[in-house]
Amino acid sequence: MATLIRPTRSLLQRHGTTAAISPALIFLPSIFLPLLFVLPHNSLAAPTELSQRDMEILKHLSVMKKHFTAFGVTQLWHALILFSAGLISMSGSVALGQTAGSNAPLRIICFGAHPDDCEIQAGGVAAMWAARGHKVKLVSVTNGDIGHWRDAGGPLANRRRAEVEAAAKVLGVTSEVLDIHDGELLPTLENRKLIVRLIREWKADIVMGPRPNDYHPDHRYTGVLVQDAAYMVTVPFFCPDVPHLAKNPVFLYFPDSFKKPNPFTPDIVVAIDDVIEKKLDALDKLVSQFHEGGANGGPALMPADPAGQAERAKQVREYFRNRQKNLTTRFKSAISDWYGEERAGRIEYIEAFEVCEYGRRPDRAELKRLFPFFDAAP
Ligand SMILES: [Zn+2]
Repeated sequence: MATLIRPTRSLLQRHGTTAAISPALIFLPSIFLPLLFVLPHNSLAAPTELSQRDMEILKHLSVMKKHFTAFGVTQLWHALILFSAGLISMSGSVALGQTAGSNAPLRIICFGAHPDDCEIQAGGVAAMWAARGHKVKLVSVTNGDIGHWRDAGGPLANRRRAEVEAAAKVLGVTSEVLDIHDGELLPTLENRKLIVRLIREWKADIVMGPRPNDYHPDHRYTGVLVQDAAYMVTVPFFCPDVPHLAKNPVFLYFPDSFKKPNPFTPDIVVAIDDVIEKKLDALDKLVSQFHEGGANGGPALMPADPAGQAERAKQVREYFRNRQKNLTTRFKSAISDWYGEERAGRIEYIEAFEVCEYGRRPDRAELKRLFPFFDAAP
């Protein structure tokens, strides 16, 4: 047995397997061996859903199987099948994220075209993930430097970066603003590589972005760039300077109201009632865009007196509260589907997302693991 244990341990050490699973693998390596008999033959030849680490472990077990059969201990496999079933379910949970270990935090990266898009579309769910220890990064692909009716250029870009950083602090997430001019984003090869590297560096399990059908060219091309990154993040020799992801993330779209060529269809809805005030607090930090009206605002939106400013802030908060409520009305049937009719009736605020066909296609059970909020629904 010692000779069998030793290579298994070194394999695990090389791949940095977490403490949660390594004791079982080190002390009970023979438990895995029955798998070689109960798994279909082609499971060793079909790597699509297995990480490189999984494949190496299976290859190693294949060698171990040969040794065991040589000693005529086939019955041992049958006696240990029950234990194997337990380990199969363990390995299922380990395989959920890019980072090995069932307790490893989920890693989420969201791309918006401007410094406010991610906060509007996913600020609630981002705060909920963050509160549970998961890692969320909100990226603005442009710097927002023409997004104001009076100001522009570097000073506006700096102001907007400071605004989203303040919002990120409220939500408990990380924020990054890329230095690409607002209104000038193009789906170039250079930008595709930029997005691929960001997703890989974040080791993302979930990637979010807009659909490529949108009124604003920056939104459209952010959608295209995120689509272009789906799959390419797994290709080792595309941007080989940043290690590829062993597992394609789940890519999700933000909602929009455009109907051609096809309307947004929610694949998952999340009640955000618990964090709605936090989300509104975060949006309250984006003064240049909402209080002052952004590119289409005007001096009438910027009262000089404190009472007028407070009134304007109240209007902005109510606007977003109603915007969220409209989403709840619009996706009523999806909310019932996820929460049941009775609970759905009590939900006031939601965020909704559609699965992009180009990333990993999660089933409902995986979506519930990636959005671990359904036990605490209102
Ligand atoms: Zn935008």
